[in-house]
Amino acid sequence: MTEQLKRTIENLNKNNMETFLVESRDEALKTALSLLNDGDTVSVGGSVTLSEIGLLEALKCGNYNYLDRYAASSPSEMHEIFRKSFFADAYFTSSNAVTENGELFNCDGNANRVAALMYGPKKAIVIVGKNKIVKNLDEALYRLKTVAAPLNAKRLNKETYCAKTGHCVTMDNGKEKDLTCGCRSKDRICRNYTVMGEHLPDRVKVIIVNEDLGY
Ligand code: SF4
Repeated sequence: MTEQLKRTIENLNKNNMETFLVESRDEALKTALSLLNDGDTVSVGGSVTLSEIGLLEALKCGNYNYLDRYAASSPSEMHEIFRKSFFADAYFTSSNAVTENGELFNCDGNANRVAALMYGPKKAIVIVGKNKIVKNLDEALYRLKTVAAPLNAKRLNKETYCAKTGHCVTMDNGKEKDLTCGCRSKDRICRNYTVMGEHLPDRVKVIIVNEDLGY
């Protein structure tokens, strides 16, 4: 284990987030499923990582009451799933970044994911590849504005500056130190920023995968 991983895991644990280090996406899937019970109501936040490890398929096929946002047939049905997710037994998501200080850094356009991560579901299970570990919050924000937001905006066909250029408009406005001001696009995906250190012991589990996953 590298010193960086060791420090990150120690600090996540100190922040009440029990952390597992696994070597591969297959192992991540097994660990994630081992944290569920038959019949659990489960839900997920939007995440490439969850898809890459095969979790979405496993939830569909397993013995769970899966609140499947991807099966929603209308925006109102999707909204209803988001609301029901607050009462789930387990909520799965990734994180835009994890700092060596043991913080989960995230940013959402809609806030359903960050809200459920922070409060509501009995358990929140966060799965992150090692590529998302950063030194501190400055690096987390920089990662968001140069990696996570541009790639997610492109994936979701959003009309934003970063989807076209690969970085946030603020960086071309000479406002690198003021990255949260962002663009004025109606499609902007950086609206709700959160930094999390859990207060309830046993609620949040973090699975760090020793490979690159998602963005
Ligand atoms: S504020 Fe706008 S341009 Fe900047 S990263 Fe977010 S969506 Fe992209």
